[in-house]
Amino acid sequence: MSATTAATLQDAILDALSDAIGLRREEVDFCRGCRNSPAGHCAEHERDYELAVAYEEAERRIRAAGSDEDVLAIAGEAALVRGGGGQK
Ligand SMILES: [Zn+2]
Repeated sequence: MSATTAATLQDAILDALSDAIGLRREEVDFCRGCRNSPAGHCAEHERDYELAVAYEEAERRIRAAGSDEDVLAIAGEAALVRGGGGQK
């Protein structure tokens, strides 16, 4: 990626996470089964719910990062936890 924008990596990731959280939350928020479930989600939207929670946790951690270097360290940890897709 070339530096054609002023946004930092941290800003870009936070924007992306915000979008992703919104999309996943929308699935859950507009589902009657989810709204009526004590667990906060129905069986169909369990993954949407879990991803939204995971993204929100990531958002908190990345927002707390002091620099893009910290962000990369956090992202590296997350990739290890997920097993790493290895796309490039
Ligand atoms: Zn649902």
